[in-house]
Formats: sequence, structure tokens, C-alpha cells
Amino acid sequence: MPDVNCTVNDCKYWTNKNLCTAQQIVVQSDEAGGFSPNTQLSQLSATPAKTKDGTCCQTYQSQQ
Ligand code: SF4
Repeated sequence: MPDVNCTVNDCKYWTNKNLCTAQQIVVQSDEAGGFSPNTQLSQLSATPAKTKDGTCCQTYQSQQ
């Protein structure tokens, strides 16, 4: 899988430098997620989701 940059830093697949380590991810449309992506990767801030419903990525899993 190509590098996936992600700022959801409370997901168990998230690692430093905003890289996802999941083997596969499922992402829904902005319409479903409600927010447009920030395309300035170098300026992205952490965006913890707390729950799967808090992110457009349905592969999210809590670190707990
Ligand atoms: S939220 Fe999705 S893209 Fe982000 S680290 Fe978790 S699995 Fe990867």
C-alpha cells in the first residue's frame, strides 16, 4: 500500500510522522464524513477521533 498520511493520532495504526501502518483502509466520502481534507500535509495538526464515527476512515481502531 502507498504511504497513507493521517492525523488521527489516537488510532492504533497511527505512528509518528503521521503515517498509517494498517495493511488496508476503508475511507468514505466527505459527504459521509462532513469535512473537506486539508491538502497541506506539512501543516496538518493532530486530529484525534475518539471513536470510529469521529473519522472518515472506517479502519480506525481505538488504542485502548
Ligand atoms: S484512522 Fe485510518 S488512516 Fe488513520 S491511522 Fe487509523 S487506520 Fe490509518
